[in-house]
Amino acid sequence: MITFENVYKYYDDTAVVEDFSLTINEGEFFVLIGPSGSGKTTTLKMINQLIDLSKGSISIEGKKISDYNLQELRWNIGYVLQQIALFPNMTVEENILIVPEMKKWEKDKMHDRVTELLERVDMDPETYRDRQVSDLSGGQQQRIGVVRALAADPAIILMDEPFSALDPITKNSLQEDVTRLQKELKKTIVFVTHDMQEAINLGDRICVMNEGQIEQVGTAEEILKHPANDFVKEFLRTGLPHYKEEKTIQDVLNKDYVFEKSETSQADLDSEASLDDLTIALSKHPQVTVSSKESGSRLLLTREHLVRYYAEELETEKAGVGNG
Ligand code: ADP
Ligand code: MG
Repeated sequence: MITFENVYKYYDDTAVVEDFSLTINEGEFFVLIGPSGSGKTTTLKMINQLIDLSKGSISIEGKKISDYNLQELRWNIGYVLQQIALFPNMTVEENILIVPEMKKWEKDKMHDRVTELLERVDMDPETYRDRQVSDLSGGQQQRIGVVRALAADPAIILMDEPFSALDPITKNSLQEDVTRLQKELKKTIVFVTHDMQEAINLGDRICVMNEGQIEQVGTAEEILKHPANDFVKEFLRTGLPHYKEEKTIQDVLNKDYVFEKSETSQADLDSEASLDDLTIALSKHPQVTVSSKESGSRLLLTREHLVRYYAEELETEKAGVGNG
């Protein structure tokens, strides 16, 4: 468990991380997302003390990171960077074994560990163990980067945009590897990205950051269905080509052709219910009554209202296509 309590990071007088508080659970795949400069890398690097925090505290398993021996802390937290940080003139095995070597593992244990890890990512150990890293493709190198972070079996792995330089197919395949490894090996992963689709693919929970602050923390579903504010909505709109805000019945009530007050009702719905709920209700009843949360009044909605609403949406969409 990693706990941030009111953490600040200042450069001169500017806070680049501001009053940051949250808990990352053990075994969780936690994604930090936000635009460039929002403080993601700074937040990540404060966990393994590559950057010192200015105020507040970060604890791992209830113990403040400043109370850990620094070397011990770093060795027990795996770290994967965007720019492949392998040593190009060393072999795959030598790269994987950097931390186990420092920890002075037995030779046999190290050999077996390389075999096991390469097998886990479908790279034949006998083919790849002695290859120079510089002879591998970018995707293979980053796969070794991931394996290397796992080598000494750390409980926590930090990843800073590790796949952002890869082509989409290689990226997907590495995302699948990492998700599977995380589940099999039960690691806590803190993963930084600026790619919303990647965050959705990977994260158990996602934290949306902006200018050093948290805009929203939740599962992908929670964030997609209930974006907390305009920043998150805009981030979803620009980051996901097929994103559509979920419309609610209130969107229909806002139309000027809905005005009839209702006395009798065949079905009752709340204005915050989805349009899907309204469609289902109207398939069973020619009209339904809705209590409007905004005006407090009760209004009657008919099938005609719904069809008219959908038709207008379609026309707006068609008109918008040309504007790209
Ligand atoms: P992200 O990873 O989200 O792109 P960073 O955490 O790298 O953002 O940076 C957050 C902010 O802190 C940026 O505005 C950046 O310019 C600033 N920053 C980062 N490192 C330093 C530094 N060493 N000195 C001054 N400002 C810095
Ligand atoms: Mg960064």
